[in-house]
Amino acid sequence: MTEPVTDDKLDLLGRAAGHAAQYVRGERSATVANSEADLSRLLDAATPDRPIAPRRALDLLAEHGLTAAVRTTGGRYFGFVNGGVTPIALAASVIAGAWDQNVALPVMSPVSAALDAQAASWLVDVLGLPGTATAAFCAGASVANLTAVLCARDALLRRAGWDAASAGLNGAPPITVVTSAEIHVTVTKAIRLAGLGTDSIVVAPTDDCGRVDPDRFPATEGLTLVLLQAGNVNTGHSDPFRTIIGRVDRARSWVHIDGAFGLWANAVPGLQSLVDGVELADSWATDAHKWLNAPYDCAAVILARHHDLIDSMRVDAAYVPAGDERSLMNLGLQMSQAARAVPVWAILATEGRAGVAASIERCCRAAALLAELLGAAGAEVLAPVVLNQVLLAFTNTSGDDITDALVAAIQADGRTWMGATTWQGRRAMRVSVSDVSTTPEDIAAAAATVIELWETLA
Ligand SMILES: *Cc1c(COP(=O)(O)O)cnc(C)c1O
Repeated sequence: MTEPVTDDKLDLLGRAAGHAAQYVRGERSATVANSEADLSRLLDAATPDRPIAPRRALDLLAEHGLTAAVRTTGGRYFGFVNGGVTPIALAASVIAGAWDQNVALPVMSPVSAALDAQAASWLVDVLGLPGTATAAFCAGASVANLTAVLCARDALLRRAGWDAASAGLNGAPPITVVTSAEIHVTVTKAIRLAGLGTDSIVVAPTDDCGRVDPDRFPATEGLTLVLLQAGNVNTGHSDPFRTIIGRVDRARSWVHIDGAFGLWANAVPGLQSLVDGVELADSWATDAHKWLNAPYDCAAVILARHHDLIDSMRVDAAYVPAGDERSLMNLGLQMSQAARAVPVWAILATEGRAGVAASIERCCRAAALLAELLGAAGAEVLAPVVLNQVLLAFTNTSGDDITDALVAAIQADGRTWMGATTWQGRRAMRVSVSDVSTTPEDIAAAAATVIELWETLA
C-alpha cells in the first residue's frame, strides 16, 4: 500500500524546512564560497534506472548545498550585483511554492492577482515614479529591458503611422537608438532582439564616473529611442536624466531607463538627487531580486502609459476572458508565469517605504565603509562611492598592480567574495553591497580578510 500523497508532501516539506533552516543557521559562520567542493555524487551520465527515494534526494540536495552553494545571503558576498533574500521574502516564497499558482490570468488565482496588483502599485510608489505608471513583474531586468524596448519600438513607429504588428519592420521608418557608452549588455541585446540593429546605435559619451555627458549628447532627427541608465554596474553612478530628457524631442522620442539596481536610489530621500529627473522617462526596468532582496527571479518593467504595454504585449485567444486590464499574459512576454509578486508584496507590506529606504541606505553606508577601510590601508578607490558599488585597485610593495591576483586569492580563500572588472582601461576589484543584511561587522571582517591576503601577495 502506498501512503496518502498528502502525508508524503507534508513529510517532505517538513524535511525540506529542516534542511533549509540548517543552511540559514550557517549563513554567517560558514565560508562564502568553496571552489573545491566535491559534486561528483550529484552527477551521473545516465538518467537513473533505479531512482532514489524523495527523502534521499532532499538529503543529497541539502548536503551539497552546504558545501557548494555560494553564500550570497550572509553579508560577506560582494560579487556581481547579487542581492540576498530577506527572511520574510524567503518564507513567503515557500508559501507561494506550495500554492503553485499560474498567474497568467486573474481567474487562475484571485489571491495572486490581488497581490500582484497591490505589489505593482506599491513598487511604482516606493520608486517615486508617476502614479499613473504600470509595473509588470517579469524574470529579470534583461527581460524588462527587452519588453520596454519592444514597446518603445512599436509606439515610436505608431507615431509615424506605421503598425509594426502587422507590417513588420521591413520598410519601416528608421529609428535612431542613442545609448550611453556605458549601457548594460542586456540593453544592447534587447536592441538586437527587437530588430533595431546595433548599427543604428549612436553612442553618447560618458564621463569618468560612467555618466552620460550632457554636453556631448548627440543630436538626432526623426524617431529616436534614448537608452539611459540608473546605476552603472561598475561605479553605481547614474546619468543626468533631467538635463538629457529636457533636451530630447518628446514627440518623436522614447526614453527608457535601465535601473536594475540604481533605480532604488529614488526610494531614499537622501539619495534621490543621484537620479534626479528619473521619473520623467517613458519606461524603466528594475530588479526586485537584486537590491530589494526578493528571491530569484523577479524584476519589473514599468511603463508610463499602460496602453503602450498592452498594445505590444496583448494576445487574443478564444479561451481568454476579455477586458481585464491586469491580465499578466497581456503585460509581458510570458503566458504561464509564477506569482513573482508574492515575495515583493511581503517585503513591501512588512518594510514599508521607510524600511526599504533604510535597507538601501544601510548598503550604501556599508559600501562607503569598505572603501574607507581599504583606502586607509592603501588601496586606490577608482571612482567616488555614491551608492553600493566600489571599485578598487591594489599594488604590491614594488608598485606593481596585483588587483587580479588579489581577487583570485580572495575567491580561493572563500571567507568573502569580490569580483573583478576593467574600468577605464584598468583592472579593478568590483564590490557590490546588495544584501540588505550586511552589517558594519561584516564589512570590517571582509576588509580584514582582504588586507590579510593582500599582505601575502605584497
Ligand atoms: C543586473 C543588471 C541587468 C540585468 O538584469 P537581470 O536581472 O540579471 O536580467 C541589467 N542592467 C543592469 C544595470 C544590471 O545591473
